[in-house]
Amino acid sequence: MGLLDKIKSLLPKRKPPEQVNNVPKEKENIRKTFEVYCRANHNTEGDKLCPKCTALLTTVFMKISRCPYGITKPICDRCETPCFGEVPTRDFLEVMRSSQRKMLLSHPIMTVKHKLQSLGVDYAKQERDKKSTDKQKEAEAKVKAKIANATKSPKSKSKKKKKKK
Ligand SMILES: [Zn+2]
Repeated sequence: MGLLDKIKSLLPKRKPPEQVNNVPKEKENIRKTFEVYCRANHNTEGDKLCPKCTALLTTVFMKISRCPYGITKPICDRCETPCFGEVPTRDFLEVMRSSQRKMLLSHPIMTVKHKLQSLGVDYAKQERDKKSTDKQKEAEAKVKAKIANATKSPKSKSKKKKKKK
């Protein structure tokens, strides 16, 4: 057991999970969703997309490549700062939302993974909001402590002086 631990400690540490590149998975999921959507709504076949969906997908992929969050980006349909532009974002969300059920039927594993990821994003947001309220409380507590110290300090100083004497 001791030797194994030593060997393990010598091995390079694994990259932390937040360094995982989310972009290929995200693009794959979006592409499949577009295919499902276009097939159902624009009568296209297989993995072909109609010109409108092709244009939208091209815009979306181009923007993802320049995503300010980099490779650790959150999934696009949960993003708080969508970068596709107003109309493409609206169309994109429409495609993603309206095809959720169909995606579950045609690509169940991918859809469940994506769902888990979106839950993860929601959880991270919750935690962040919690932290920010904690920080607020901390700041408030500090201010209260300062006020308390300011009012107490003359007394404590006089006590110290008395002790010294
Ligand atoms: Zn289409």
